[in-house]
Amino acid sequence: RTQVVVRMAAGSVWRSLVRGKCSGRMQTVTLIPGDGIGPEISAAVVKIFDAAKAPVQWEERNVTAIKGPGGKWMIPADAKESMDRSKIGLKGPLKTPIAAGHPSMNLLLRKTFDLYANVRPCVSIEGYRTPYTDVDLVTIRENTEGEYSGIEHVIVDGVVQSIKLITEDASRRIAEYAFEYARNNQRSSVTAVHKANIMRMSDGLFLRKCREVAENFKDVKFTEMYLDTVCLNMVQEPTQFDVLVMPNLYGDILSDLCAGLIGGLGVTPSGNIGANGVAIFESVHGTAPDIAGLDLANPTALLLSAVMMLRHMGLHQHAAKIQTACFGTIKEKKVLTKDLGGNSKCSEFTAEICRRV
Ligand code: NAD
Repeated sequence: RTQVVVRMAAGSVWRSLVRGKCSGRMQTVTLIPGDGIGPEISAAVVKIFDAAKAPVQWEERNVTAIKGPGGKWMIPADAKESMDRSKIGLKGPLKTPIAAGHPSMNLLLRKTFDLYANVRPCVSIEGYRTPYTDVDLVTIRENTEGEYSGIEHVIVDGVVQSIKLITEDASRRIAEYAFEYARNNQRSSVTAVHKANIMRMSDGLFLRKCREVAENFKDVKFTEMYLDTVCLNMVQEPTQFDVLVMPNLYGDILSDLCAGLIGGLGVTPSGNIGANGVAIFESVHGTAPDIAGLDLANPTALLLSAVMMLRHMGLHQHAAKIQTACFGTIKEKKVLTKDLGGNSKCSEFTAEICRRV
């Protein structure tokens, strides 16, 4: 792709994931600040939205694991009620205990709201030094099943089994989302990522559904590629990819690899789209416990996720204003957080973006 096309696409990449309604009235968004650096970066986003006069009214809710009837893990009722009503959420990172305790709250949120599509645009940011300068791709990950279905058991002492669950319905649904996304965002191709040569039944089913759906989208080029080949090609020449669709585990890993191509998780946004009109936008990095409370966090990933959210809500002008201020701050390199190569605090970086909006 030429540089010009890349730049045009980069400008359009944060366009709505699902076309939202456009309105000047205040719209409610459920804000889940999260753990660790979550509250700091959420506060930064709220400040920048205020400076940009974005017509958003935040409804803050904590998401902690609670046990419901029958010992089932649930999210708190007030958070669920807020999300059901607002339909739109912005979420900071949530910590997950390792190997014991409550399950991942991110997983629980996905299950609760049937957030079946995880969408992560990876676009090189001008002026920010990364391994590549012209990456412009989107990973679309099936978010509800695969190896992350949570079906695990001990067979005999010392032997455990985890089930990879792939269904026809979920495979068709994510393939349709990927093709519609490509069509709505002027993207030319969709690549299905799989290992159907080894996982013949599960990935075979996923791939068959992608092929079937592709038949209905003749205007979008369809290719299929083994996961290992994608990894190799991604590192050698990422510009060959456009939209990639894949089962859950592959998407989890590959989307982080793609984030590495554009400078890491600190600058990578994401959106989780649900079947019932609910969408939750989130930074993909974790709670960064090593720097929590020190005013050192980079709020860019959450801010760009919030920009995706604004597009989703039809608030395109506010989205463009905030995105330009953020990218301008990074390009100028005067006020940058440590992970971006600077010496500034989170609050100073936030103030600079506020000054520019
Ligand atoms: P992490 O992403 O929290 O941290 C990895 C490294 O990146 C750390 O050095 C951290 O300081 C740095 N980092 C991350 N985000 C940053 C930011 N915005 N600005 C500057 N530096 C940043 O990964 P981890 O340490 O593996 O996980 C910590 C916790 O986060 C765990 O409990 C994990 O389960 C959770 N987690 C949550 C999510 C989520 O909610 N989406 C995602 C990943 C991990």
